[in-house]
Amino acid sequence: MKSITKKTPAEIEILDTAGTILAGILKQLATEAVPGVSTLTLDDIAMELASQHKVEPVLLGYHPSFAPTPYPAAVCVSVNNCVQHGIPSEQIVLEQGDVVNIDMSIAHGGMIVDSGLTVGVGEIEDDAQKLIEVTREALMLGIKQAKPGNHIGDISHAVQTLVESRGMSVVQELCGHGVGYSVHESPNIPNHGQPGTGPLIEVGHVYAIEPIVNIGKPDVFFDDEGDGYSVYTADDSWSAHFEHTVAIMEDGPRILTK
Ligand code: MG
Repeated sequence: MKSITKKTPAEIEILDTAGTILAGILKQLATEAVPGVSTLTLDDIAMELASQHKVEPVLLGYHPSFAPTPYPAAVCVSVNNCVQHGIPSEQIVLEQGDVVNIDMSIAHGGMIVDSGLTVGVGEIEDDAQKLIEVTREALMLGIKQAKPGNHIGDISHAVQTLVESRGMSVVQELCGHGVGYSVHESPNIPNHGQPGTGPLIEVGHVYAIEPIVNIGKPDVFFDDEGDGYSVYTADDSWSAHFEHTVAIMEDGPRILTK
């Protein structure tokens, strides 16, 4: 595994500014996720907001090694049984009761932040609401463990323990990651694992921590035959995701994307 980069205090301040901008964009996008709106419209709005704030939507044109083509949009919008990497489309129109994950990454001042949230469209079922709340809570518990002297496995374990105690499951094929100079850096931050294992957490590290939670079984499939990006739950059940970019400070985690 490549070594984990450390960001300077000045770089963390730039990341904090970027994170505040991204949080504002995601908050706005969340309010636009209403019945009748296509996920492509959400992407158009994301592009517009990025341009207003003079930040670069870095997912657009990003080409991960697993994908056949560069990513064609500013955001990933993953609806219901789509776990991650949903490509915005005119054909995907939000309906009352949907569970929608919006994930975005931006560059500002040469530094990159990554964040995501899940919202319900209109009135949603109680179980869907519970899934969203458990996923958000798992993120906060994971972040709490992101302090100097702990290990990545402490974050993973906190996320997994909470989620499974609520009868839900974490997706093991997808994980969080280092971030800051590029979208995906070392280390990987799985949502399952044992405390005290994995890389040591040190001051100056910056992580994108992102629980990916299924209300049903943990199994997923990758749509390799289709768009090459979308990941779906194998049992067709809902999935949710929350993500913050977090800097490791002397006194603990500092959430940059809020
Ligand atoms: Mg991420």
